[in-house]
Amino acid sequence: MEPFAFSRATDPAQAIKAGASASTAQQGAEVRFVAGGTTLIDLMKLDVERPSRVIDINHLPLAEVERTSDGGLKIGALVRNSDLANNADVQRDYAVLSQALLAGASGQLRNMATTGGNLLQRTRCVYFRDTATPCNKREPGSGCSAIDGFNRTMAVLGTSEHCIASNPSDMNVALTALQATIVIRGANGERKVPIGEFFLLPGDTPDRETVMQPGDLITHVTLPPPKADARSHYLKLRDRASYEFALASAAVVLASDGGTIRHARVALGGVGTRPWRSPEAEQALLGKPATRQTFAAAADAALRDAKPQSQNAFKVELARRCLISALTTVATT
Ligand SMILES: Cc1cc2nc3c(=O)[nH]c(=O)nc-3n(C[C@H](O)[C@H](O)[C@H](O)COP(=O)(O)OP(=O)(O)OC[C@H]3O[C@@H](n4cnc5c(N)ncnc54)[C@H](O)[C@@H]3O)c2cc1C
Ligand code: SF4
Repeated sequence: MEPFAFSRATDPAQAIKAGASASTAQQGAEVRFVAGGTTLIDLMKLDVERPSRVIDINHLPLAEVERTSDGGLKIGALVRNSDLANNADVQRDYAVLSQALLAGASGQLRNMATTGGNLLQRTRCVYFRDTATPCNKREPGSGCSAIDGFNRTMAVLGTSEHCIASNPSDMNVALTALQATIVIRGANGERKVPIGEFFLLPGDTPDRETVMQPGDLITHVTLPPPKADARSHYLKLRDRASYEFALASAAVVLASDGGTIRHARVALGGVGTRPWRSPEAEQALLGKPATRQTFAAAADAALRDAKPQSQNAFKVELARRCLISALTTVATT
C-alpha cells in the first residue's frame, strides 16, 4: 500500500473543501473519502486505488433515514446497509430495497457498508483487481484482459470494445427500479442527479463510472413516494446461496388494476455495465394482463440487445428467467 495523508471531517462543508483542495493542489494525485472502507481499503491493499489523501467521513451527520414532506424517503449517505435494510419504512414501502441489501455481502460487511459507498463500489472483474494485467478501467489505454480471458461473470448489456465489466451492486439495482435521486455536494454547490443519469456506460472511457467529479461528496439518496398499491421484489441468482455477487438479478415494482398492469419499473443486475433499467420491459408490461405470457414478452424485450462473450451466453437465459420469476412473485404474492 502506498503512503497517504489521513484526516477526519466533521461537517460536510469541511469535507468538500478538503476534497477539492486536495484534488487541485496535487496534480494527478487523488483524494478519496472513506466510509465503511469495505471497497476502498481492499483496493488500496491491492494497489488498485492509490489515493494520496484519505478523508474519513464517518463523523458527518449523514446517517439518518427520514420521511420527506411529499411522502418519499431521504437516506443519508452514511446509513449502513444493515440499518437501511431493517428500517421499518423501507421494509413497508420499498421492500425491493430491503431485499436487495439483505442479498448482498455478509452480515458483518452490511454493518460497515454505507449507502454512498455501495453506490460507488467498483467492479469485481478479476483483472481490474490484478495490477499485473492490462485493464482499461484501471489503466486507460492498456487493453481489456477480460474480452479474450475469463469473462463468465462479465456484462452482456451496455458493454463496449474497451470494457465489459458488470456493476456488482445489489442495492443499485433496487434504487434504479425505485427511481432514486443522488444528492451530491461539490465545490460548485449541490446537484440532484436521477440514478438513470448517475452511472455512465463504459464506451471508450471505462475509467469514468459515474458523473462524480473529484472532491464531490454524496450526501443523500432520495426516493419518490411509493406508488399506491405497488408491490416490489428483488431476486438474485448466484453461484452459491450467500456471500456471492449476482450472476443475474431483477428488481421489479408493479401495480395492477383488475389484473391489468398500470405501473411497471424493471431493473436488472449482474448483466449490465451499469444497474440496468429496462424501459423495453416496462413498455411490454404496461396495459397488459399480469400473466406469464406478458412476463415472458417483457423478459425477451429486456434481453433483446444482449451481447454475450465467449463464456457468459448462459447469462442471457438466466436473466430472462430471473425477471420472469421476479414478476411472477410480485404478481402472485
Ligand atoms: C467479500 C465481499 C463481498 C461483497 N458482496 C457483495 C454483494 O453480494 N452485493 C453487493 O452489492 N455488494 C457486495 N460487496 C460490496 C459492498 O457492498 C461494498 O464494499 C460496500 O457497499 C461499500 O460501502 P463502504 O461504505 O464500505 O464504501 P467505502 O469502501 O468506504 O467507499 C467506496 C467508494 O465510495 C467512495 N465514497 C464512500 N462514501 C462516499 C460519499 N458519501 N461521497 C463520495 N464518495 C464516497 C469512497 O471514496 C470509495 O471510492 C461485497 C464486498 C466484499 C468485501
Ligand atoms: S472488463 Fe473492464 S474492468 Fe475488466 S479487464 Fe476489461 S477493462 Fe478492465
